[in-house]
Amino acid sequence: MADLKIVVCVKIVPKPEEIRVDPETRLLQRVDTRSEINPPDMNAMEMALSLKDRYGGRISLLSMGPPYFEPNLRVALAMGADHIYLLSDQKLAGADTLATTYTLAEAIRKIGQVNLILCGEESSDGATGQVPPGLAEWLGISQLTLLTEVNIDQEKRVARGRREIKGGYEILEVPMPCVISVKTACNEPRFMDFSLRSWAQEIDRVTVWDASSLAAEPDHIGLAGSPTIVTGLAEAPYRERRRQFLTGNQDEVVQQLADILKNGQ
Ligand SMILES: Cc1cc2nc3c(=O)[nH]c(=O)nc-3n(C[C@H](O)[C@H](O)[C@H](O)COP(=O)(O)OP(=O)(O)OC[C@H]3O[C@@H](n4cnc5c(N)ncnc54)[C@H](O)[C@@H]3O)c2cc1C
Repeated sequence: MADLKIVVCVKIVPKPEEIRVDPETRLLQRVDTRSEINPPDMNAMEMALSLKDRYGGRISLLSMGPPYFEPNLRVALAMGADHIYLLSDQKLAGADTLATTYTLAEAIRKIGQVNLILCGEESSDGATGQVPPGLAEWLGISQLTLLTEVNIDQEKRVARGRREIKGGYEILEVPMPCVISVKTACNEPRFMDFSLRSWAQEIDRVTVWDASSLAAEPDHIGLAGSPTIVTGLAEAPYRERRRQFLTGNQDEVVQQLADILKNGQ
């Protein structure tokens, strides 16, 4: 097989402690919010780097978001990624998971000859976990989700992986190209090479594509291509927590617990 070509899909997310939602538009307020690489995507990134260590090849990052995401993404170059593609255009804004996956899939087609698409398990802000299966659907290729290990059989052109299940694990195999989502915390993402930090922020290895750079149908992207409508937004009521010690013998404690549950106290 020619060089393994891996795309890692990376979402830049607001730091959890700074997440705010605009009560009017019901969209995330990103301005004045510090961002970071979605933590589960660091596990996907580490998986890609370990595959590159073992099989060689090339890692590209793919992200959709505003231009100010670029410095966050460039950190991956100092970790060992080779190139970054950022999809950035006002016409792509307001995308739900359908439009997001369509747009990312169009970019993957444009990158071309991709063998493996790695994603995190879910984002820390949207957290639908719909992007990896959505990508596989749009691209018409196989998918494996929530893997903790990935190996490549270069001769057979298959990806093989391990998924933990209750009481054991499964070994799964799909033909490449394929989409794989990586289980959060299944590995320890390496640190960036600090000596490459400035280099990574300056090197010409970032391609920014706007909507017109993709062969995308205008009514499939951004808000226009998003059938999801957020109809309401409410703050979850804060529930007081309390601790109560039950005393007595086993039967008495069980009876007390049953009474509490029954009476909802
Ligand atoms: C009506 C509506 C409007 C919205 N408008 C906006 C908006 O204006 N701006 C906005 O930021 N979000 C917006 N969103 C949220 C947007 O739909 C999600 O951010 C996006 O579809 C990804 O879904 P998720 O966060 O659940 O990802 P998940 O499916 O949980 O993510 C799984 C994995 O997919 C990959 N991934 C996810 N998102 C991206 C991405 N953008 N680029 C590359 N890889 C990715 C990562 O590897 C991630 O770990 C909107 C949602 C709705 C419903």
